[in-house]
Amino acid sequence: MTLTTELTDVQKEIVATVRDFVEKDVIPVANELEHADTYPAEIVQKMKEIGLFGLKIPEEYGGLGEPLTTYALVVVELARGWMALSGILNTHFITAWQIENFGTPEQKQKFLPRMATGEVRAALSMSEPHAGSDSQAIKCKAIRDGDVYKVTGTKMWVTNGLRSGIVSLMCKTDPSADPPRRGISVLLVEKEPEATKLPGLEVSPNIDKLGYKGVETTELIFDEYEVPVENLLGGEEGQGFYQIMAGIEVGRVNVAARAIGVAQRAFEEAIRYAQERETFGKPIAQHQAIQFKLAEMATQIEAARLLMMNAAQKKDRGERTDLEAGMAKLFASEMAMFVTTEALRIHGGYGYSKEFTVERLYRDAPFFIIGEGTSEIQKQIVGRQLLERYKI
Ligand SMILES: Cc1cc2nc3c(=O)[nH]c(=O)nc-3n(C[C@H](O)[C@H](O)[C@H](O)COP(=O)(O)OP(=O)(O)OC[C@H]3O[C@@H](n4cnc5c(N)ncnc54)[C@H](O)[C@@H]3O)c2cc1C
Repeated sequence: MTLTTELTDVQKEIVATVRDFVEKDVIPVANELEHADTYPAEIVQKMKEIGLFGLKIPEEYGGLGEPLTTYALVVVELARGWMALSGILNTHFITAWQIENFGTPEQKQKFLPRMATGEVRAALSMSEPHAGSDSQAIKCKAIRDGDVYKVTGTKMWVTNGLRSGIVSLMCKTDPSADPPRRGISVLLVEKEPEATKLPGLEVSPNIDKLGYKGVETTELIFDEYEVPVENLLGGEEGQGFYQIMAGIEVGRVNVAARAIGVAQRAFEEAIRYAQERETFGKPIAQHQAIQFKLAEMATQIEAARLLMMNAAQKKDRGERTDLEAGMAKLFASEMAMFVTTEALRIHGGYGYSKEFTVERLYRDAPFFIIGEGTSEIQKQIVGRQLLERYKI
């Protein structure tokens, strides 16, 4: 089966609803909230009401049961308005996907209905202060003691670390396993949202980031924090590395979607500005050098969109997508860096001013080349898959 760019009627309706919400409720306030690093509580409430937290959760658990393709299209729209909103959804989406695909029937019943409404939202925690790309080098350990695991260790860069009620935690249940991945498990850690200090768990203040403000990113410091054994994802130790990597694979389609949303907005801002701003007696859009920039920007956005749709549709058909998701994430991330930089250049000095949206988009874009696997790691993944598929 080949790629289709034609959306279903349901997809068209959902995308139109989200676009309308973004135009009315997000774009008018996004710059102000971003510059004040304010959490968008009212917007999140509306996201719950539209059903976005349950968009991909199966209907039997109260979600809308939409495929990954619809989810990706929605994320493009949200990121076009404000990247923080796609970040609030992203870790929730991956955690729900992990529970749906690897959770025990009891875990699905326990978590998914409350996640579908957004009543409980989720974070995903792999990184540690000394280990990001090399995820098998994590040190956070969960040692079983009767009916509980006692979790000890420091996790870093936890997006939604404060407001989440569930953390999909990558940790070592067997710290001496060789190879280390065999000792890695995922615990569905429950905690009180907004609490900064709980017995055995401290949530650090929000890390002051370059961009991607509005959503908090914290450290989680565990010291014998107790997690019931029934919260071990899938009920079997040593499966965590695979469960996390599979979640990150769908997450890569999601990062590609976020990059496309940010780049699309940068392009829209740039092409409008290019027709308003005049130099040497005519709008700068009439200079061929600017038209060339616009042409390259739009072409790259379109190419990224096709890669994203291809990866999402393959995943929805149950096909293997490690190569396609890696390519989509790699290309879309670098594309967003290029497009936001070109958009800033087209704005001249004004692009450097906080008065203009393009300044925010330019600061947001570098996240894509880092989060959920840097571009260098993405190239490794793509390279390995190519050698496997074209083995002589
Ligand atoms: C805003 C933000 C939000 C985040 N949110 C989350 C989150 O919610 N949950 C979470 O778990 N993590 C999160 N992260 C962490 C993110 O996933 C890591 O930063 C990322 O995986 C890179 O890890 P690192 O920072 O430790 O860099 P390192 O792994 O130390 O890499 C440093 C550099 O070396 C390169 N490098 C590393 N290994 C190789 C290699 N083998 N070959 C070639 N080059 C290599 C990298 O590409 C990079 O350029 C977030 C990060 C940011 C910035």
